[in-house]
Amino acid sequence: MSGTVSSRSIDAAEGQQTATPRQIVIIGGGLTGLATAYYVHQQAIAAKTPVNIHLVEASSRLGGLVGTEWIRGHMVDTGADSFITNKPAGVKLCQELGLEDQLISTAKQFRGALVLHQGKPVPVPEGFTLLSPSAIWPIIKTPIFTTYGKLRLLSELFVPRKRIPGDESLASFVRRRFGQEALERLVQPLVGGIYTSDPEKLSLMATMPRFLDDEQRYGSLIEAARQQALQASAGDRNTSGARYGLFAALRGGLQQLVDRLSHTIASYVNIRLQSSVTKIEKDVGRQRYHVTLADSSQLDADGIIVTAPAHKAASLLAWLDADLANELRAIEHASSAIVVTGHLAENITHPLSAFGLVIPAIEQRRILAVSFASRKFPDRAPPGQVQLRTFVGGAMQPELFDQTDEQLIQLVKEELAETLGVHGEPLFARVVRYPKAMPQYHLGHVDRVNRIETAIARHPGLVLAGNAYHGVGVPDCIHSGQSAALNLLEQFGHAEPQ
Ligand SMILES: Cc1cc2nc3c(=O)[nH]c(=O)nc-3n(C[C@H](O)[C@H](O)[C@H](O)COP(=O)(O)OP(=O)(O)OC[C@H]3O[C@@H](n4cnc5c(N)ncnc54)[C@H](O)[C@@H]3O)c2cc1C
Repeated sequence: MSGTVSSRSIDAAEGQQTATPRQIVIIGGGLTGLATAYYVHQQAIAAKTPVNIHLVEASSRLGGLVGTEWIRGHMVDTGADSFITNKPAGVKLCQELGLEDQLISTAKQFRGALVLHQGKPVPVPEGFTLLSPSAIWPIIKTPIFTTYGKLRLLSELFVPRKRIPGDESLASFVRRRFGQEALERLVQPLVGGIYTSDPEKLSLMATMPRFLDDEQRYGSLIEAARQQALQASAGDRNTSGARYGLFAALRGGLQQLVDRLSHTIASYVNIRLQSSVTKIEKDVGRQRYHVTLADSSQLDADGIIVTAPAHKAASLLAWLDADLANELRAIEHASSAIVVTGHLAENITHPLSAFGLVIPAIEQRRILAVSFASRKFPDRAPPGQVQLRTFVGGAMQPELFDQTDEQLIQLVKEELAETLGVHGEPLFARVVRYPKAMPQYHLGHVDRVNRIETAIARHPGLVLAGNAYHGVGVPDCIHSGQSAALNLLEQFGHAEPQ
């Protein structure tokens, strides 16, 4: 095996003889895999453990679901375009990699989202975050709800706590506390835009546990939001406030993070592209693993971190542990597509003064959401042009994913014309498909992940990371890579090399 720079650098730094380097194989070169490689190196230096790191990626490029392309003068994020800043791992990694000056926040003048209501886009009531309003007046004014729906929503202040706390589906929780209208008119499309999931199945504990906590702690989510807003404004008076907005992006698109990470790790990681792992086996006697690639070559490993999607991890691990593989396979993944289009601004009737439009399932449209990419961030489209990213498919409309590119472009053109008044031929249209890419955190997900973690602990040196376990967002994935690296190096600390 090649790629011993990591052990060399530790030797040089410490000026001493070190033990045989541990062979570490990271499977998957998406953001999780890249972050994992970066943190394994850091942890190895901290633990003074010499390592050879190998990163094996099935496709011909690094980044997985994250990528940026230039199309006809538009900078297009083909997958994720930004990340939440209240989970620190994303911002922190950008800072560590020297990308701090490239971080940008969303454009202030367009903050806010639209929701389709009886075929027309209307603003999401101010202060409404995912499931809960923090202000009453915007709810009273909005045309989204009937008078009954508004009264039911605001009566949340008097809905008693659930007596036996525990997991609940998003739909059941919202229906119980805010009523059916709040669920189907606002919460389903807002949350659906993130998880592309069926709210009747989505686990609140696995996705947004703070709302379960708020119910128990404050007795009402409206009251919790009010108190938290008061605390935040008191905090603002005492501090300079948050450095970035709630979401951050990179000036040159999220590919910048992939490029900087790849460049940083290149000196100490042996990166293999177009190398699909097909099997992981254990050499029980030597406490080592054999990793088989599609070309039948093998890597021997003291430690493996699998960052491939859970359904892929299941196939790789089926030889090793059938029960573990079954649990991994039981995490469903939804497929979705993004149709990115460029337009002359003059061809769009709607002013698009927001970050995007979400579409409730009850509106019975063929699109899930439209992100107004060139409104959210600067320099995404040339002057006088607009870039739209339209989301199609997901767990609620899986059949649409099977349409051809031409059919998808046609249906998006029709939907954009009817909902936002987008006319004329787009300047370009690019379809990006994500088959089985979005893990569905269904009821019971937290227990399933606990069982997976118990099972994996039966295999010292084997660790899982990625978007299927403790969060799907970019910061969650980076954090999972960091935790996996720490976990593996701690395991090495307790065992002698073979
Ligand atoms: C359409 C879409 C939009 C999103 N938007 C946002 C957003 O705006 N903000 C946000 O925070 N999050 C967003 N997300 C979520 C986030 O982008 C992902 O959860 C995250 O990028 C996943 O990274 P990952 O490395 O865990 O997985 P992936 O990116 O899926 O990487 C896994 C890698 O493993 C490789 N692989 C698979 N099998 C094998 C094998 N057998 N051998 C070797 N390699 C293998 C794959 O080729 C792939 O490169 C979005 C997700 C999607 C699908």
